[in-house]
Amino acid sequence: MALGTASTRTDRARTVRELLASGKRSYSFEFAAPKTEKGERTLWNAIRRIEAVAPTFVSVTYGAGGSSREGTVRATERIATETTLTPVAHLTAVNHSTAELRNVIGQYADAGIRNMLAVRGDPPGDPMGEWVRHPEGVRYAVDLVRLIKESGDFCVGVAAFPEMHPRSVDWDTDVRHFVDKCKAGADFAITQMFFYPEDYFRLRDRVAAAGCETPIIPEIMPVTNVRQIERFAQLSNATFPPELADRILAVQDDPAAVRSIGIEYATELCSRLMAEEIPGLHFITLNHSTATLEIYENLGLHQRP
Ligand code: FAD
Repeated sequence: MALGTASTRTDRARTVRELLASGKRSYSFEFAAPKTEKGERTLWNAIRRIEAVAPTFVSVTYGAGGSSREGTVRATERIATETTLTPVAHLTAVNHSTAELRNVIGQYADAGIRNMLAVRGDPPGDPMGEWVRHPEGVRYAVDLVRLIKESGDFCVGVAAFPEMHPRSVDWDTDVRHFVDKCKAGADFAITQMFFYPEDYFRLRDRVAAAGCETPIIPEIMPVTNVRQIERFAQLSNATFPPELADRILAVQDDPAAVRSIGIEYATELCSRLMAEEIPGLHFITLNHSTATLEIYENLGLHQRP
């Protein structure tokens, strides 16, 4: 076995906590569990291309409403066994009793997965609807963090919101609940997507002022088509910059121009974040590698040692 492969294997066996503690900036990519055979092929094309740039880790989301349990377990297991990548499996509390959650955690453990992202999930159907927990399940992500930590030696990540969680009553409460997740054992956090670097820095500073040192990795999603403008607002509540919307709408009949503006904006956002101390960057791929890899290349990261 080549030496390079051996060292990659060692890295893969490490947790995100350990990889972040090494002091190197983390560069990671997020995929969604596929729902069809065609989707599976698209995902694996993207995974293989991302693997070539040796990211710190990759994550696989858990479908809204707890819908992709098998798909998420299968995809993360395959990543763990068939690639050189370190997988992080998302897990949500939606529609699951505590017994079912323990079962999924057990399946992840059996697949050799040591990293999980514990997120509460949104109400099925209407993400902005009232959250009702499963009668035998958990209420908040903090309970999920505790459940995973009790279940074994896992490294656990949680969600953070640069523009505050849409259901939070105010900033202080939002930050307090975030810090509670860290006190319950969260080892790292990944943010919701955002478009203004100031939003990330404000969150980071508020969390630091509350005495919490958990690394918070900013999440980046490039806009690559016009439809995404509306979709972003629906899914994330992130403020979409009106100046970016204007630029995109001005060239909406030219898909290549739309894509290039989106990539340019995301590259600039990353550069401004990287000019300060950040633990890393987490790119949403939507199971396509090209836009995020272009940003990666624009930032000169493909040449990192
Ligand atoms: P929580 O931390 O539980 O917070 C939810 C709300 O409850 C907040 O307003 C919080 O302030 C409040 N709260 C927390 N604790 C308490 C308490 N003790 N008392 C009163 N209020 C409290 N969704 C999916 O379905 N699948 C995924 O794979 C997925 N991955 C994600 C990855 C990232 C990086 C992010 C940022 C989000 C992801 N989501 C995913 C979306 C996420 O499930 C929703 O944003 C959800 O609404 C919030 O999840 P949370 O883990 O932050 O919840």
